[in-house]
Amino acid sequence: MTELKVIVCMKVVPKPEEIRVDPETRRIERSQVRSEINPPDMNALEMALKLKDLHQARVILLSMGPPLFEKYLRVGLAMGADEAFLLSDQHFAGADTLATTYTLAKGIEKLGDPDLIICGEESSDGATGQVPPGIAEWLDQSQITLVTDLEVDLERQVVRGRREVRGGHEVLEVPTPAVVSVKTASNEPRFMDYEIKEDAFKGANVTVWTREDIEADEDYIGTPGSPTIVSGFEQAAVRERKREFLTGNRDEVVRRLVDLVQDLM
Ligand SMILES: Cc1cc2nc3c(=O)[nH]c(=O)nc-3n(C[C@H](O)[C@H](O)[C@H](O)COP(=O)(O)OP(=O)(O)OC[C@H]3O[C@@H](n4cnc5c(N)ncnc54)[C@H](O)[C@@H]3O)c2cc1C
Repeated sequence: MTELKVIVCMKVVPKPEEIRVDPETRRIERSQVRSEINPPDMNALEMALKLKDLHQARVILLSMGPPLFEKYLRVGLAMGADEAFLLSDQHFAGADTLATTYTLAKGIEKLGDPDLIICGEESSDGATGQVPPGIAEWLDQSQITLVTDLEVDLERQVVRGRREVRGGHEVLEVPTPAVVSVKTASNEPRFMDYEIKEDAFKGANVTVWTREDIEADEDYIGTPGSPTIVSGFEQAAVRERKREFLTGNRDEVVRRLVDLVQDLM
């Protein structure tokens, strides 16, 4: 292994407070809301960039989604990623995790033999956590989920991931190529590098690939390739917190407080 080739899968998601589901299509509305890079994907990118700091590594961003995702990939380029690819095509719309992972796997195949594919643990919108294992299945690669730290042994061609478990941690070692998912908040993503920001936003190319570019089978993508549908959703009832404002002089307030605490015991 000479230069590590690391692909980071990044999804752009609506800001949590702005998530709206279209009642007719039962799909998340993406065009009218403010979006952000899915937070654990920022941790995944930071993990990849740390590997780049340590080893010779090429960090490639990969996303599937509408054209508006492009500007968010530029944030990743400004943080230090080398290239960005967006899989964008009307035919990809409506994908469940099976179709999403197939499409991403076809993109990865076209990018050619990465050593590592790093994802976030789950998205903040669909939140299934199925995409990283799904990519590993399509590509028939080893996988480690929910890592908080990652090491690569270039000589032995293995990757070691640390996972928190109840009462401690475990370290799993798998051969590369491998897929890894990264636990949310496991590191602090770096700021954009102001020396490369201008180029990332104005000069750098984000390559857009369509279905034809990645030679995806149309029966496996978008709605036709998605056996899972979101068949219904409803707003959870909002429970009002019980509260009481204590009034009166200090003694009265303390007495009432003691009564309340005693009621709880
Ligand atoms: C409310 C709701 C519920 C849903 N439930 C299901 C369900 O039960 N089963 C099902 O099959 N589908 C479901 N979907 C559809 C699902 O959200 C999409 O298939 C989506 O494209 C991928 O799933 P996810 O967001 O759950 O990804 P996750 O598996 O939660 O994402 C994990 C990681 O995979 C990577 N990743 C995910 N999507 C992309 C992308 N588009 N581009 C690049 N990297 C990506 C990111 O690194 C991310 O951090 C649901 C959607 C909604 C809105």
